[in-house]
Formats: sequence, C-alpha cells, structure tokens
Amino acid sequence: MYTIGIDLGGTNIEAGLVDKTGHIEARCACQTAPERGARAVIQDMIALAHAMLGAAAEKGIFVSAIGVGTPGVVDKTGTTVTFANNLGWQGVNVAEPMRNALGLPVVLENDATAACIAEWRLGALRGEQEALFITLGTGVGGCFLVGGRPYTGAFGAAGEVGHMVVDRQGPLCSCGRHGCWEMLASAPALARMGRQSAAANETSLLHVLSGGDPARIDGAVISRAAAQGDEAAQAVWARYIDALVLGLENLNMLLNPTAICLAGGVTRAGAQLLEPLQNRFERERVYTELPMPRLCLTALPKDTGILGAAMVGQR
Ligand SMILES: [Zn+2]
Repeated sequence: MYTIGIDLGGTNIEAGLVDKTGHIEARCACQTAPERGARAVIQDMIALAHAMLGAAAEKGIFVSAIGVGTPGVVDKTGTTVTFANNLGWQGVNVAEPMRNALGLPVVLENDATAACIAEWRLGALRGEQEALFITLGTGVGGCFLVGGRPYTGAFGAAGEVGHMVVDRQGPLCSCGRHGCWEMLASAPALARMGRQSAAANETSLLHVLSGGDPARIDGAVISRAAAQGDEAAQAVWARYIDALVLGLENLNMLLNPTAICLAGGVTRAGAQLLEPLQNRFERERVYTELPMPRLCLTALPKDTGILGAAMVGQR
C-alpha cells in the first residue's frame, strides 16, 4: 500500500510517495511562502500531490490516500487547520479542496502527532502502548501515545507541551506567557543561551567554532565546543539539559509512560544529549519505586515529516 505524505512546514512543503514500510519511492518539494495566503499554499500542495501521482502511475503504483502533516491544531475530523500561528491560518479547510482536485481521501494531522505515529509504526516507539514523543526543534512539540494511539484531546489541541510554564521569571514566549518550556528547551533557546555565554566569555571556543559570528552559534556549535572541553559551552549544555529534565519529569509524573522518545534538530547531538539526560532523569525522578521509562532518540532522524504524513494517510 502506498500513500502520499505531505509535510507542510513554515518554510518548505515536502511530499513523498511512501510504502507501508517507510520506503520513499519518489519525492518533491517547494517553498511554503505562507504570506501568499492559504489558497496558494493549498494549490501548491495539490501540485506536489499531482507530481507524486504521476510518479506512481509511471511505476504502476496504486495510491490509496494522502496524509498531510501541518503545524498548529487540526480539528478532530482531520480536515481543517483550526489555527496555525506560524502559517497565519485560522479555520482553513485543507482536505476538501485537495480531495476535490485529486479524487483521493485526504487526512490532516498535527506534525508532531504525525511524527509520533511514524515513530510508533516504524521507529523507536514500536510496540509501545503508553509513551511520550517530544520534538526539540524551532519550538517544543509533543504527542501522548495512550493505549497505542495518539491522544489529541477534546478539540485536537492536546500535547502542546512547549507552552507548559517551567519558570515564571523566564523569557517571554510568543504565546504571551513567561518561561514556557520551549523558551528554555527548543533549538533557538539553546542557541540563545550559547550566544549569551559567548558574549560573557571572550576566550570560549564558541567564538572559534562559530567563525567569530555570534549568529552562527547553534546547537551543533555548542555541542562541539562542549565535547572539546570548553567550560562555557559545557555550562550552557548543562543548563539546557536541566531545563529539558524539568519538563520531562513533569510529563513523566502526568503520564507515567514506558518510553519517552526525543526527536528534532537538537537530537543530532546523539549520546551527548541522551547520556546526561538519562543520568539526570534517573537521579531526579520522584517515583523511584516504579521502573524508569526508556529514554530514547528518534530512529527516524531523516524525512520524519514525510513519513509521519504518509503514515497518517495509511491509518
Ligand atoms: Zn508559550
């Protein structure tokens, strides 16, 4: 069985023709440019899907459905984006115009939920019933797997873990509150802490590894400097782990999962992220009488968006 997975991001739209094992047979992409408005973006998604249907026809492949992963909140029917701040969308029915143009079922899902479904079907959460999936990217997203299914709440907005306040005195978030978890645990938050540290430490390796340009200090630069023994970078990394553990432990208490899977750009640090996280988590968790949840990193670091969207189409 093949589906078309469309990953709608704030910057790019990527589409792939995907089989049920996660093999991507063909792919294409274009820029999102959300300022053009929803209609133009949907037209581009239709064009990408047409290109994938063309590739499928050439290979004699039957396509059963189209799945779309989108930022923001998706309604419970899987047709409409209730709101997506980074696209500037409110109440946009995406499925109907796509279905009318393409003649195939179209199912929408929040992108973090879609990635969680892919992780559960193909990756690090296979076989799990109660699990937590967290993305550490531009923001911090999440999905709760309950009884082997994503829990999306009454109106599709569950799992917005990034806006859980962990420090009332923390930085102002786009949602209007201070100290949201994503202001401390997202990739931009890590970069911000790195820039602040570099400004206060003239001899830090952060300067050398970013070529002297503070704007180029990101998670990769910080983890490299920390691995090379730079104290300023190690302190940033420790603060980042601290913020991450705080939120994860809150969610662990709330959900009591058997596994917690982390995905997103920051997880490229690999063991440098996972090992201190496991140690801190083990030390600080409250219910020590219970088994420790399995902390792991995504097994699908590439093409998670396309795979997630395609798996949404296969449900
Ligand atoms: Zn917030």
